[in-house]
Amino acid sequence: MLGLESKAVQCPYCWEWIDILVDCSLRSQQYVEDCQVCCQPILLTLQIAADGWIDADARPENE
Ligand SMILES: [Zn+2]
Repeated sequence: MLGLESKAVQCPYCWEWIDILVDCSLRSQQYVEDCQVCCQPILLTLQIAADGWIDADARPENE
């Protein structure tokens, strides 16, 4: 299924779990999103598998 999926990722700054919306029509993507809790920029690296599984990696933007 393609579309928008929500995915929980853990903020690398404050360790809170936040929900992000993932555009599953793109198999591989990387972008920066501000944490909803501490507002620091998180570098998100997303891989969407053929079966729709979302692999999300969250790390500090400046590392
Ligand atoms: Zn945070």
